[in-house]
Amino acid sequence: MSLATSAPHSIDRATCAALDAADPLARFRERFALPEGVVYLDGNSLGALPRATPGHVERVIAEEWGTGLIRSWNDAGWFDKPAVLGDRIAPLIGAAPGEVVLGDSTSASLFQVVTAAARIRPGRRVIISECGNFPTDLYVLESVQELLGEPGRPLERRLIDDDGPTLDEVLDGDVAVVVLTHVNYRTGRMYDMAEVTRRVHEAGALMVWDLCHSVGAVPVELNAARADFAIGCTYKYLNGGPGSPSFIWVAGRHHGVARPPLTGWHGHARPFDFTVGYEPADGITRFRVGTPQLLAVAGLEASLDLWAEVDLAELREKSLRLTELFICLVDARLAEWGIEVVTPRQSARRGSQVALRAVGTLDAGDGYALMQALIARGVIGDFRAPDLMRFGFAPLYVTHTDVWDAVAALEEILRSGSWREPRFARRGAVT
Ligand SMILES: *Cc1c(COP(=O)(O)O)cnc(C)c1O
Repeated sequence: MSLATSAPHSIDRATCAALDAADPLARFRERFALPEGVVYLDGNSLGALPRATPGHVERVIAEEWGTGLIRSWNDAGWFDKPAVLGDRIAPLIGAAPGEVVLGDSTSASLFQVVTAAARIRPGRRVIISECGNFPTDLYVLESVQELLGEPGRPLERRLIDDDGPTLDEVLDGDVAVVVLTHVNYRTGRMYDMAEVTRRVHEAGALMVWDLCHSVGAVPVELNAARADFAIGCTYKYLNGGPGSPSFIWVAGRHHGVARPPLTGWHGHARPFDFTVGYEPADGITRFRVGTPQLLAVAGLEASLDLWAEVDLAELREKSLRLTELFICLVDARLAEWGIEVVTPRQSARRGSQVALRAVGTLDAGDGYALMQALIARGVIGDFRAPDLMRFGFAPLYVTHTDVWDAVAALEEILRSGSWREPRFARRGAVT
């Protein structure tokens, strides 16, 4: 059934139930421990809990830690976990075996790869990113600019923006590295990875992709796009759990020359020689720093078992069906209340999330109270200042009926005005 060809008014809850019944990914939903009565549309911020995770983490704690103790570094393969799990992430991002390793936080890993990339282009003094990037990415770039600049003269940063300047306007022979987030965290807009990478290479610069909102949301083809470096997090669509580690990808052709700034013992060629001098390990291993967070790694390991079964073409197809359904229903039922879709309508330019904005008689900031009212009804999305209500559609566990119920709940909240209750305007520390 194609939504594009059915008129919005002909879609009802039964249509959604029929789409669920025909969904080839439907079987994955029961592999997640979602609370009863909750429509979870925030898997782009923190993925849901796979049912297998608590048992696996408990086994790692009781057997590998409790019984195995220090022996588990060898017996349970603790030392190699970051590389072994990296190899299991590789097929999700179009990478080859031996090109991916687990890192620390995404922010720390971004620092590792952007610095390493800029060092491959010495003499070029500019780093490009974008205004709308996730702020931590921009904060990290400031450190790289300082580290690789001269005293009092940091590297220059040029930021592109939707209203200009464009990438082509700021790319020239001074640019060392371009750092972009593939799927925008606020709007869900997706770049054409191969096309952008090609333009960056034409200017002689290297391309770093942030895949936080891409991995597990859309198929990614890093090697086919000839990209240079990438990082991403595993606690969003990959469902690794709060604080699960980032991953780092470096194209094989850079492995011999890449020099990360944080040189710890787990990135050493022979860490157990305990020598005084640092000597980088071969390959992607040199991007490791210190002891991996093995309990968090265990959470990711359980979730990657599930990802090994997922067909990414089916994932993308379902993701587009969910976001298209949501957009259709918002247009048909919420436009009259002053709710507008911000995310690109062209499917090739969209990740797996949709952002809405309150316009007309509503204030931009009203989106916050609207989202709190929705959450109080069990429909969980989030709000990104100053004005975006964000809804993530994790294809492994979100159903078409969930989409229907979410739009129906928002319509009811707008119609009744219940969102104007003062309790919905109070802001917590995390939005
Ligand atoms: C979620 C996200 C991060 C998170 O960084 P952490 O270091 O894991 O907190 C960074 N960049 C982007 C684009 C993100 O979406």
